[in-house]
Amino acid sequence: MSRKVAVVGGGPAGLYFARLLKRADPALEVVVHERMDGTAETFGFGVGLTESTMRNLRSADPETAERVREASHVGHELRLHGHDGIVPLHGARNLAIGRARLLEILTDAAMAVGVEIRRGVRVDATSLDADVVVAADGVTSATRDKYAAEFGVRSRLGRSRFVWCGADFAVDSAYFSAARRGDSLFVTHAYPYSPDRSTFLIEVDDLTWRDSGLEDFDRQVQPGESDRASVALLEEVFASDLRGRGLLTNRTRWSRFTNLTLDTWSHENVVLLGDAAHTAHYTLGSGTKLALEDAIALAEALVGEASVADAFAAYEGARRPSVERFKKLAHRSQAWWDSYRHRHEWSADRLALSYMTRSGNLMLSDYAGEQLPAARRALAWLGENVPDQAGELEGWVLAQPLDHPGMELAGRSVSRDGLKVAAAVREIGWSEPDVWSEAADRLVSRMRGSDDLPILLTGPDAPDAVPARVDLAERLRMELSRPIGVQVPVAATSLAATAVAAGRADFVVTR
Ligand SMILES: Cc1cc2nc3c(=O)[nH]c(=O)nc-3n(C[C@H](O)[C@H](O)[C@H](O)COP(=O)(O)OP(=O)(O)OC[C@H]3O[C@@H](n4cnc5c(N)ncnc54)[C@H](O)[C@@H]3O)c2cc1C
Repeated sequence: MSRKVAVVGGGPAGLYFARLLKRADPALEVVVHERMDGTAETFGFGVGLTESTMRNLRSADPETAERVREASHVGHELRLHGHDGIVPLHGARNLAIGRARLLEILTDAAMAVGVEIRRGVRVDATSLDADVVVAADGVTSATRDKYAAEFGVRSRLGRSRFVWCGADFAVDSAYFSAARRGDSLFVTHAYPYSPDRSTFLIEVDDLTWRDSGLEDFDRQVQPGESDRASVALLEEVFASDLRGRGLLTNRTRWSRFTNLTLDTWSHENVVLLGDAAHTAHYTLGSGTKLALEDAIALAEALVGEASVADAFAAYEGARRPSVERFKKLAHRSQAWWDSYRHRHEWSADRLALSYMTRSGNLMLSDYAGEQLPAARRALAWLGENVPDQAGELEGWVLAQPLDHPGMELAGRSVSRDGLKVAAAVREIGWSEPDVWSEAADRLVSRMRGSDDLPILLTGPDAPDAVPARVDLAERLRMELSRPIGVQVPVAATSLAATAVAAGRADFVVTR
């Protein structure tokens, strides 16, 4: 086992990893290098964690988990504030903690086991004298950039822009709301993270960016400063959410989310950890979770494996599947928020069902199992006599007739043979996950200029291809006025019913 371990970056990933490794093998020399002078200088406000993350932390390090829990704000549910009402999305199963407080706890925990923390120094990973260099230097990782070819880095910026602000009071629950000013649309994700603090994360699309002058404000901000002009506008837009108070800032300025894909997370004696290795859109609230879970896996691998190369392979082998799963869920969540404008006028009930099922890990039956009244109201657009048992909803959805000029169906699910008898359709093959790409734009404009036949999206039954078709169907439904169907595997009843219920497809075709 290596003797000297250098960690670049004292964020959640670097600090927690250092603590776990040094605790497991006190003979090691473990040094964390952090460019910021103090934890209070960090960016951002509160971060959300889930109970499942807390379970993982507890089993790796009960003492630190307990301190994180004690310092967290717990017991708030998640709600959606729509233009026609407020809908509960899920119960109190999330925690939130101030980022600065989390870093304080992790710093203390690392120092308590003998980790050395050198603050106020920006280091170059390649110049460190260590057997293992752990690059936990965040989403803008200079280490990753330096070895971009070796890591096989691809990165893509998200479409929306966001700012991370705070408020000096605790909102009653975590919630989403949107405010309109002419053509500009501002969305906020707000959540409490201490008895007197909340995070207000605010997003805008391109149209709002240009229309509200945010682009001009942004150009005038010096590096390291907050964008005061944008913040003043946001304070006015969200005045009622903010109860007349101001927004707190901390080098607050607009960013676009970096979506990363890497072929490998290690090169020679350097390994990437947390946001340096992967990102998953913040609307899934999983960046800190993934960073902390990476730290657990890398510490275990370095202690358990004979060579550094084996340890890096074991770490990546253990973490890749979960990270890839979260990235896929997060990608769909990101696309949902990027295209929020198209759904803004929907009722809060419909929006809530669409939101809860946006990533594909929850189905109509899951949502209805927890929020039956809201789910039933959300289905009223499909037909009358919505069942009052959650378990009967999927069957009911698929049994609702489709009555559209050019297409009449007795139910929303039809076999290939049944479709032949029912209607002529235009079939289009699709399996790309990005349904707002230029290729998808071209497809939409081609379809606008074509005949009015219903469209059926077809393609392989692969696990990623089916959701991609469902997402494209939703886009086509938003932009064209003809029935849009999706080919799904025979056994995918929940997915099919959820796609129809949430307004993503008019009908589904089973092979
Ligand atoms: C708007 C927004 C909201 C978010 N909300 C949530 C949420 O609700 N829940 C959640 O789990 N996650 C959330 N995240 C994500 C979360 O903040 C990150 O995923 C998490 O901080 C990753 O931890 P990390 O340790 O990998 O990187 P970071 O936290 O970025 O830490 C990297 C550290 O490295 C230091 N550093 C960088 N370069 C050098 C260098 N050369 N030398 C020395 N030090 C260096 C930096 O100063 C920094 O302290 C959010 C992110 C954003 C942008």
